[in-house]
Amino acid sequence: MNMKDVTNNPYLLLTPGPLTTTGTVKLAMMKDWCTWDDDYNNIVQGVRSKLVSLATKAVDKYSAVLMQGSGTFSVESVIGTVLPKDGKLLVIANGVYGHRIAKISSKLGINTVVLASGEVEALDLNRLTDQLERDPDITHVAIVHCETTTGMLNPIEKVSEIVKRYNKVYIVDAMSSFGGVEMDIDELKIDYIISSANKCIEGVPGFGFAVVKKDEFEKCSQNARSISLDLYDQWKTMEEQNGKWRFTSPTHVVRAFAQALKELDEEGGIKERAARYMNNQKVLSEGMRELGIEPILANELQSPIITSFYYPNSENFEFSTFYSKLKEKGYVIYPGKVSDMDTFRIGNIGDVHLADVEGLLKAIETSRYWLNPVLEN
Ligand SMILES: *Cc1c(COP(=O)(O)O)cnc(C)c1O
Repeated sequence: MNMKDVTNNPYLLLTPGPLTTTGTVKLAMMKDWCTWDDDYNNIVQGVRSKLVSLATKAVDKYSAVLMQGSGTFSVESVIGTVLPKDGKLLVIANGVYGHRIAKISSKLGINTVVLASGEVEALDLNRLTDQLERDPDITHVAIVHCETTTGMLNPIEKVSEIVKRYNKVYIVDAMSSFGGVEMDIDELKIDYIISSANKCIEGVPGFGFAVVKKDEFEKCSQNARSISLDLYDQWKTMEEQNGKWRFTSPTHVVRAFAQALKELDEEGGIKERAARYMNNQKVLSEGMRELGIEPILANELQSPIITSFYYPNSENFEFSTFYSKLKEKGYVIYPGKVSDMDTFRIGNIGDVHLADVEGLLKAIETSRYWLNPVLEN
């Protein structure tokens, strides 16, 4: 059976989640599941332990908690549950998602400071050291790993060295990189890492998760500022009741996610998936340069996840026209999100392979209407 025919996708999503999933992941949603039955709860427990083993070799020190909602709900549940009442959060922000963490934290009434950095330059780590030196009240530091706004991969290892030199709790939003970039969160001394179902694991949207360091998280039973986003209570319920969620769980999404985890293994694990994404990104950015469309980031800052490009240098260029032409040819790309420059983005994650990138480059080559508007099409 050809799964592409079964699911009949009209176009390929080249967006950083929701993204293109395999036919078999979609088919896993074709059954109805009880939320309390053992069959289902065993799937949840399998997913939780698999997530821990993807995150680290030190599986005994960490645990995974799943949380309903989109990725932002999981970020909010971590921030709102792990910061004590007298805690103070330093957020390193160089894009929309970093600033979103700070916004969440301030909204929750948490004492928050932002270390804002340029969106397209490398982070200045001396400023982080200065800030931690000057402000001993800071208890926690948060950073985004892949800043999906620009596609920049932030140096979480170097940041960790500084954060841990000052003995702070370390929170990483690895929403768009977890499962697509190799890492060991114990070696990186990360206390909390956050991601969601619909990014590099290649599931469908509906829940997020955090992998938490157990001895740190045990201190957080009294912190939550919300009932539904109380990550500690959710964790205890899952731990004590064999994978039970507190409120209605996204059963079909979890089933699809379990299938996606199986397919990650079949691909060869994170190492092989990361290699596929890196190759997609390399072929894409080199091909785009040849077509006269430049990536905004230097190669050494660029993640394998998503690439931002400057608009072509032509007054005839309009993103919406370009977007529609590519969509007609079967490719959906993504608008830009950098604050002070005109950009668009192309994601490499999802069920996207070299042939797809090559097909996209061909489609872009023949969609450059701005080069010669008279000869359109
Ligand atoms: C996708 C993403 C999120 C969460 O976004 P949602 O729209 O809430 O799923 C958070 N941080 C980063 C870095 C992301 O890429």
